[in-house]
Amino acid sequence: MIQVEIDEHAGFCFGVVKAIATAEQALAAHHALACLGDIVHNNAEVQRLRSLGLKVINHEQFSQLHNGRVLIRAHGEPPTTYRSAKQREIELIDATCPIVLSLQRQIRAGYEEMREVGGQVVIFGKRGHAEVIGLDGQTNNTAIIISSPDEVDRINPSLPIRLYSQTTKSREDYQQLIEALECKHCTDLVAFDTICRRVSNRVDQLKAFASNTDLLLFVCGSESSNGRYLYECSKRVQPTTYMISDESELEEAWFRGVYRIGVTGATSTPRWLMERVRERIYTLCSEEKNNATHLSV
Ligand code: SF4
Repeated sequence: MIQVEIDEHAGFCFGVVKAIATAEQALAAHHALACLGDIVHNNAEVQRLRSLGLKVINHEQFSQLHNGRVLIRAHGEPPTTYRSAKQREIELIDATCPIVLSLQRQIRAGYEEMREVGGQVVIFGKRGHAEVIGLDGQTNNTAIIISSPDEVDRINPSLPIRLYSQTTKSREDYQQLIEALECKHCTDLVAFDTICRRVSNRVDQLKAFASNTDLLLFVCGSESSNGRYLYECSKRVQPTTYMISDESELEEAWFRGVYRIGVTGATSTPRWLMERVRERIYTLCSEEKNNATHLSV
């Protein structure tokens, strides 16, 4: 008899919960709301909110808007977005995660400091990621964006450095970058600990969960940065880990001969979606059992 367990630590982080609750409240009051970019990197949840009246717009559509209400998602936005909204009398409903907001302020302070002394602000993050665009905006887009420790040579060790990480980057990779800089004997290096605990703590929890399974299903959207990272962590512990975006991607053959199935996800994966995956696994396994019974009769 198979057992399907949902990881109790998986699911929305409080930043995403807050953004979704803010969107739901605004939709209940106004029945329609635009959101600048996907509110969460999960198609199924975006679809659910669309059905309530949420319209996802991109920056080009935003630049053509006048008046109206626009939600800023948990990833945050650069100062230019706030300025341009003000010019066009757009009301912004700001659901930037408090952790991201605090990082934006830290980077702004680091930028002011570095500007005085000709130093460098370095952001360890994924180029083009919404959060990183918002962070770089605090430096008037002058920060050096480093996406991997291999790019350490882009930083000048003889100038002062203020180093920050995108909240969802890998702690190990960030540490590797710091060590690579230390080896270069930088004259003035300050590295800030800015990785979100909600993501970094998940690694150990996930490893413990994955080690008690025969097969693991990692449910997340392909755009999710922390989803890709956590999936790689799961795969190291449980090689039979499949990444799926929803229950329609499940294959009956995966479940032959396995008993303990784990269902987990990223900080952008809704709990209801993991429950749907669990239900579908039970259905697939009972269908297969019935087919086997028919064949043996
Ligand atoms: S992962 Fe952390 S920083 Fe990012 S939205 Fe969630 S709580 Fe905020």
